[in-house]
Amino acid sequence: METLTAVRGFKDILPPETQLWRHIEDTARKVFSTFGFQEIRVPILEKTDLFTRGIGESTDIVEKEMYTFHDRGEESLTLRPEATASVIRAYLEHALHTSETVTKLFTIGPMFRRERPQKGRYRQFHQIDAEILGPDDPRTDAELILMLIQFLRTLGLNGLTLDINSLGCPECRPAYREAILGYLHGQEEQLCSDCRRRLKTNPLRVFDCKVDLCGQIIGQAPRLTQFICSGCRDHFAKVQQALKQFELPYCLNDKMVRGLDYYTRTTFEVTAGSLGAQNAVVGGGRYDHLVQELGGPDIPGIGFAIGFERLVSMIPEGIPLTPPALFIAALGEPALQRAFLIGNRLRCGGIIVEMDHAGRSLKSQMKKADRLQCKYTLIIGERELQENRALLRDMSASTQEEVCLDQFEEMFSNRAR
Ligand code: AMP
Repeated sequence: METLTAVRGFKDILPPETQLWRHIEDTARKVFSTFGFQEIRVPILEKTDLFTRGIGESTDIVEKEMYTFHDRGEESLTLRPEATASVIRAYLEHALHTSETVTKLFTIGPMFRRERPQKGRYRQFHQIDAEILGPDDPRTDAELILMLIQFLRTLGLNGLTLDINSLGCPECRPAYREAILGYLHGQEEQLCSDCRRRLKTNPLRVFDCKVDLCGQIIGQAPRLTQFICSGCRDHFAKVQQALKQFELPYCLNDKMVRGLDYYTRTTFEVTAGSLGAQNAVVGGGRYDHLVQELGGPDIPGIGFAIGFERLVSMIPEGIPLTPPALFIAALGEPALQRAFLIGNRLRCGGIIVEMDHAGRSLKSQMKKADRLQCKYTLIIGERELQENRALLRDMSASTQEEVCLDQFEEMFSNRAR
């Protein structure tokens, strides 16, 4: 019979890589909680409207990448392509804004986008997502970026670039939109079909196009930074001032428009040269009107999403596994039975123990203990068992001592503590 495989673009995460995933999650929880964040867990399935309203109908995600289906012919549901809209939906549904003026939330989990699978791009991928709802002052932006960089540094990552830009606000963006349209007028025919469509729906999106000729044309276009209003300019200057205070190096990138419609003012990306074509590890920015667009009060927000798979691929060595404290090598069925009891009772006490139930030769069991880098090996032979004793070998010092089997659990628990 044909064996079944996973769905294209959906991948298994196997041990020992899972250990690295846990390490990254633990590090995020630790660093984020220092900055006052709390974890929220939201469903992976939402009503489709949440994303069409939240992310924007003219974005690539909503236009062509969502996994949307009718739930038994009734409601239209979508596997979440990102987390911000869901976090805000939960924030409003549970009226979190009524109890606190500042809400800092993070969530970690899978996202789903039907993109063309390739290295660094999957259809189910994972993100670490952090959001600050409430304040709109530039210090908040800088604090969020500082936390992000602190997290990446704690993971030991180097060679990263932080790009920042300001996307302005509803006050200053319309004039810029007109300027872009004016600049591209007469050049429409040279643009790709996607960009011609973008001109009608969201001209800024032309900056995202990967087609060479579109890139060359848009490269000469006026930049949003020349158009932003004094409020946005001042806000952006203060964000930069604060980043400098923390000595966080950054690049101003006025071509970075990000792929989602909801961003206003500060936007940022972290990229890594080592990742090749799919080089963005983190994307984020301010969304001062999203809460209102999703039916809530006028509450500003800012957040980021870190691509988990890309983060993992940048830590090639992984992290060392914790080796077992003890291997029990037993010879003969009665000794195996005793090893089974002692080993599992020690495990219940929190000690990592390995053994081999197959009853193989002492030599092959010792080899396995070596391979697993066990600190000690307890050797129980048939004669020793009858005499209620065994040999405890210190694997790195290559020394051994005789121990009393009845007292071994207590003795070893004390030693391993
Ligand atoms: P975005 O939500 O599009 O701003 O993406 C934020 C981050 O998520 C990106 O910088 C990537 O690291 C990661 N990401 C987005 N899409 C994918 C994907 N299809 N596969 C793997 N990682 C992704």
